[in-house]
Amino acid sequence: MGLAIEEILSAHRDGLPLDDGQIAAFVQGVVSGAVSRPQAAAFLAFTAVRGLGEAQMVALTRAMVDSGERLSWPTAGGLLIDKHSTGGVGDKVSLVLAPLWAALGFRVPMVSGRGLEHTGGTLDKLEAIPGFRVDLERPALEHALATAGCFISGQTAALAPADRILYALRNETCTVPSIPLIVASILSKKLAEGIDRLVLDVKYGSGAFMKTAADAAALAAALERVGTGAGVPTTAHLTPMDAPLGRAVGNAVEVAEAVECLQGGGPASLRALVLRLADHPGAAAALDDGRAYARFREMVRAQGGDPDAPLRGGGTADHALRAPSGGRVVGIDAWRIGRAAFLLGAGRRRAEDPVHPGVGLLLDVELGSVVGAGDRLCVLRHAGGVGLAEAEALAAAAFSLAPA
Ligand code: URA
Repeated sequence: MGLAIEEILSAHRDGLPLDDGQIAAFVQGVVSGAVSRPQAAAFLAFTAVRGLGEAQMVALTRAMVDSGERLSWPTAGGLLIDKHSTGGVGDKVSLVLAPLWAALGFRVPMVSGRGLEHTGGTLDKLEAIPGFRVDLERPALEHALATAGCFISGQTAALAPADRILYALRNETCTVPSIPLIVASILSKKLAEGIDRLVLDVKYGSGAFMKTAADAAALAAALERVGTGAGVPTTAHLTPMDAPLGRAVGNAVEVAEAVECLQGGGPASLRALVLRLADHPGAAAALDDGRAYARFREMVRAQGGDPDAPLRGGGTADHALRAPSGGRVVGIDAWRIGRAAFLLGAGRRRAEDPVHPGVGLLLDVELGSVVGAGDRLCVLRHAGGVGLAEAEALAAAAFSLAPA
């Protein structure tokens, strides 16, 4: 094995194409320990600098899926579909889309993640629902899929373990922004869910991982080709993340806004994105007539939660941020708003940190709103003033007003 790994690395260093067997051997070695950390780091660095051809990206994705368990849902009784977003501020689409698709007859085995820094995580939001569990075992997940038609749960150690090892090394080797590595990382986790179709929401802008539309378009195109090439028809949508999605940013506040959308209301920007990603002629009706909300309630119950209980995170207080002058809102910087929510305690710096379910921001305005001097721009919901001064300064800087 030792020599084979060195041969693979030398070929990759020199820009020679690797075949599927070499890529599979490398990924297996990462998980078994036969590939050392320096060797894995070198592979990542060569990939980031040299790139990978499309067939090699498919091989890397497949090998990463095969590094762990591939879930299957033989009793699900419907086309299995999932959505993944590259992450944004106020992005609560998964909470709406999973039960909406379930109401439309699809089955949605959604494996989701936690928030880091200024971007929120779907699991953190759902845990604002009393009793909601994101660590259910297989039989409970099968039950949720059979009854509610969907679940939203956390990643198990057995799902794409190669990604966990390589992702940690990518942080240390500054290879996180490499498109082939992002593609294989995102797709390996999603394809291991055993789905038939995948929809991706690739975000760009100040609150997103990809800052420019051009970079996001390149990532979206690669994700579509490689996902489809690896056997799961994949569609990627490009959506802006310069301003937060909807008006609520935090955990419980985002659940409440998702429920409004599931009941046919909520902010127009959230509903529009949900309908675009749902891509189904019956989607609007399923939101408006309560079918999607009924599925959400069933999912909450199937995952141990109480859909009628008040959301967790009480004991907070509200602080108003007011407009210093009148004008039209021409910008609401997503990164600053996300960062303000993080400082109030809604997000975490390290994977093991807790989040506060109740804190966050509630925006009173959206792009294009006209305000007078002293009108409220947003509410900062805080816990005993933690992070409030800094969060308020950031939120104040996030709003750009132009003469109306
Ligand atoms: N999300 C992932 O899961 N992996 C990446 O590489 C980037 C975003």
